[in-house]
Amino acid sequence: MEEYGSMNDLGHTPSALGDKLPEDLKRCIAFHGHLCPGLVYGYLVAKRAAGLLGLRRSRDEEVVAISENDTCAVDALQVLLGTTTGKGNLLLKNYGKNVFIVLNRSDKRALRFSRKCVYRYEGEYPDEFAELEAAFAAGRATIKQRIRQKWLKAMDLLSKPFDAVFDSKEMECPEIPYAPLAPSDACACCGEMTMATKMTETGDGRRLCIPCAEKEP
Ligand SMILES: [Zn+2]
Ligand SMILES: [Zn+2]
Repeated sequence: MEEYGSMNDLGHTPSALGDKLPEDLKRCIAFHGHLCPGLVYGYLVAKRAAGLLGLRRSRDEEVVAISENDTCAVDALQVLLGTTTGKGNLLLKNYGKNVFIVLNRSDKRALRFSRKCVYRYEGEYPDEFAELEAAFAAGRATIKQRIRQKWLKAMDLLSKPFDAVFDSKEMECPEIPYAPLAPSDACACCGEMTMATKMTETGDGRRLCIPCAEKEP
């Protein structure tokens, strides 16, 4: 087993192994903090979507990603597709489902990716992986073992054909409104500046931010 030495810009990834990783995946790891299977799922989806829809990284909101989970995967979408929470073109519908939708507003094409089946390790070290899984399931995995398990799974996922991991379907492009822009106003209770469209009006006509409105009797 490799030694896990000091941290580097690839998180827990040993630099010798990091050299084998594609550059765009390294950028995802640098943003996300570590290499993990979740990040790889997002990486695979982002690359496939970009290829099939002919996308470049979204500067504004021309590309939209809808993730039906809030896992590590969304960070790869942010890095590679430029669909970010800040710009409002990354929508998290946290159903806990392994489903991602990527759409291109300019030609109204949308793809839906759904992970096919329960993960099965098919890499080079099946015995070691089984051992690590057992340690993990029994709650006795050390940090090193957890990192190793994630690494083996991530590398295995990277080597699988995309269609073995995800179903891809073209779908009718959902109408996604552009991120709302609205002026801010001071909350009548706490005085803090709040987006006007997010405020609630009380019976007596005061306009409150959500936390203050929730505290009203
Ligand atoms: Zn992660
Ligand atoms: Zn308030």
